[in-house]
Amino acid sequence: MATAAPSILESIFLKRSQQKRKTSPLNYKKRLFVLTEQKITYYEYDFERGRRGSKKGFVDLEKVICVECVEPEENPPPERQILHREEFADTEQISIIERFPYPFQIVYDDGPLYVFAPTEDLRRRWINQLKLSKGRSELYTLPFWPHPHKLRPRVKPMKFGVDAKDEMEAKSAKPLPPTPSTSAPTVCKVVALYDFTPISGQDLPLCKGEEYVLLDEGSGQPWLRARNKNGQEGYIPGNYVTEAKDPLEIYEWYSKNMTRSSAEDLLRREDKEGGFIVRDSSKAGKYTVSVYAKSSGEGFIRHYVVCETSVNQYYLAEKHVFSTIPELITYHQYNAAGLISRLKYPVCSGRSAPSTAGLGYGSWEIDPKDLTFLKELGTGQFGVVKYGKWRGQLEVAIKMVKEGSMPEDEFINEAQCMMKLSHENLVQLYGVCTKQRPIFIITEYLSNGCLLTYLKEFRARLSQGDLLSMCSDVCSAMSYLESKQVLHRDLAARNCLVAEDGAVKVSDFGLSRYVLDDEYTSSLGSKFPIRWSAAEVLLYSKFSSKSDVWSFGVLMWEVFTFGKMPYERFNNSEIVEQIMKGVRLYRPQLATERVYNVMLTCWAEKAEDRPAFPIIQAAILEIMEDL
Ligand code: AMP
Repeated sequence: MATAAPSILESIFLKRSQQKRKTSPLNYKKRLFVLTEQKITYYEYDFERGRRGSKKGFVDLEKVICVECVEPEENPPPERQILHREEFADTEQISIIERFPYPFQIVYDDGPLYVFAPTEDLRRRWINQLKLSKGRSELYTLPFWPHPHKLRPRVKPMKFGVDAKDEMEAKSAKPLPPTPSTSAPTVCKVVALYDFTPISGQDLPLCKGEEYVLLDEGSGQPWLRARNKNGQEGYIPGNYVTEAKDPLEIYEWYSKNMTRSSAEDLLRREDKEGGFIVRDSSKAGKYTVSVYAKSSGEGFIRHYVVCETSVNQYYLAEKHVFSTIPELITYHQYNAAGLISRLKYPVCSGRSAPSTAGLGYGSWEIDPKDLTFLKELGTGQFGVVKYGKWRGQLEVAIKMVKEGSMPEDEFINEAQCMMKLSHENLVQLYGVCTKQRPIFIITEYLSNGCLLTYLKEFRARLSQGDLLSMCSDVCSAMSYLESKQVLHRDLAARNCLVAEDGAVKVSDFGLSRYVLDDEYTSSLGSKFPIRWSAAEVLLYSKFSSKSDVWSFGVLMWEVFTFGKMPYERFNNSEIVEQIMKGVRLYRPQLATERVYNVMLTCWAEKAEDRPAFPIIQAAILEIMEDL
């Protein structure tokens, strides 16, 4: 029997029908898109049972000639508008999974596939992956732009309501557009969101709010070559810049993803008359200003949605209209003009700069003389882990690799690739010290330590929302690893860490391959993570991103039981027996049917029946929306 090709990406997208002449809501259908090495196939999807339905069509990658972002529609229906999740979420009829505001097109010789992604991240991932799978040189499009609405796509987007086939016929009759080398180069400018001080000799400093020109196609890369306004060139961390013009992120009063209740908590904690926060509203593209005032010593809060005129001007009070949000805020810093207080005191969430992928461009070998050891954090598979500082400032965790616990040369070769992995929910690998023994692995430090211990310690304080948010963080990191085709192989709460602000990050990804301990590596060994392992791992040691999905389901279970041992009453051989019989972990008291259903889909017997990580995350976000 032929086995299905392994999928590289799986996502639920909205697909525009290629047949119909006129556009109507009926011409847009939710489909499960599956990318394999050879083709993109789309299926019906049974949301109730979390299963793939019948196949509706496919495109051979061989036939794809262009993959590109498309400008958003002018007046899209709600399902294709951007949804900002926060305080109005409970009044929103349409949940996150039903929103698909990020269009892109896959042009092939039979016509363009017009696809809408639920998040910008997913759209970018698919475009990048399609370009990678196809081999960039074969496509005549240029790099992906992270902020497509600001730029025109190189391929003229299909207009809504125009028959796609007509356009395609006209297109295929014409020669291909000029190749990138002959077309005018696009100057890609970015703005720094944070200051950055060079670490390696090749780095370029960043000054928050200043503009830089990108010098080569670096999107998706952790370090980008750029030029500053004085003509100096060097490498900058990709996660420190944005392509948006005049980004609000550079203002201390702006906290993009802050919810209404977190804003209220923060304003109350500061307890300052005129304290204010600007944040994204749940209404697409709108902002809310939360203001704190005091009356007879009692603090109270009002939330004002920034209104927009038909000519894109902003106001809080109708008489005072401004072209930009910063201008509006500056005005109200001096004039209350109807607000409960003028905006006297910007309250910020203390957003700190994210970790960089390594300590400077190309620096992965760290000088141990730059490290100060401050205290012991714990002991893991490779030995002792210490907390310390790099060059007296940056907090780091230092794994001192016990001699004989890993094939060091193999790991050192791999470490450079692992350093390129950079995601806000992955514990960042900063570098290694390999010139001495024991070798050190240097990573980002997370002050709240191991997730398993955290769950046990803070169970009384953790709400449903907190638990789901932890699962969503892990799922986000795993979606990223899946998109990079990296397997974790030992995903469990004990291998996740908790940051100062409660965010959860996945640690030790891929490290299990370097463990030299039969008790850990053999599925018969006492240290093998049997309780987190999928049936096919137990039977044939077959690891895949779908076996990581199984482990993720067990991790969700650990989260919802505040760190209980899975199958606690069974020994290892009993567990294998039970799993083969189809027995699964019970529903934790705190997990609703919907949450438990997500876990159950992760434990589908056949690996191909388990959803991909982005789909699991969409389901978790949907549950969070309805809380
Ligand atoms: P490991 O070798 O990764 O299993 O780490 C052993 C223990 O050290 C963990 O259980 C944590 O408590 C602690 N630890 C490891 N890495 C870090 C880190 N990056 N930040 C904070 N604590 C850590």
